[in-house]
Amino acid sequence: MPRASAGTGPTKPLQTAGSLETILDNCIFCKIASGAIPAKKVYEDDDLIAFHDINPAAPMHLLLVPRAHIATLADCDDSHQALLGKMLLLAPKLAQEQGGGYQNNADGPAGGFKTLFNTGPDGGQEVYHLHLHVMGGARPWRGQR
Ligand code: 5GP
Ligand code: ZN
Repeated sequence: MPRASAGTGPTKPLQTAGSLETILDNCIFCKIASGAIPAKKVYEDDDLIAFHDINPAAPMHLLLVPRAHIATLADCDDSHQALLGKMLLLAPKLAQEQGGGYQNNADGPAGGFKTLFNTGPDGGQEVYHLHLHVMGGARPWRGQR
């Protein structure tokens, strides 16, 4: 299992947190992972959950989230290699199931989706619990991502 980490560089809302326990208590994605607050879940296992983004930037906008609290992609290390690989391999499967799948057949490529990790303030990260955006569906999309 990947180890939980409070990370090194979170800003709000974790800036004032004093302990890992406090951080986890205040993390929206930890609360979704534990079931403390609801989300439209599309997948879950021992390592990961996936659910619809509350403010979708595309017709299909999923978030793939590890259950372990890892603040950012930059906080990952070798111990997270399998977890990150699992997230990336799950993305096309969930996209396919949720209406954003990619096909490449005799007619050429069609469909498809975008995968995105935002990291830190300049990366546009708002929630400091690692997550992979999976966005798809017919364009144009509303969002700027
Ligand atoms: P970030 O900017 O950190 O990469 O993306 C965070 C994403 O989490 C945003 O797209 C935002 O809409 C989504 N989000 C924030 N709070 C909630 C929530 O309570 N539930 C769900 N489902 N999505 C959320
Ligand atoms: Zn968390």
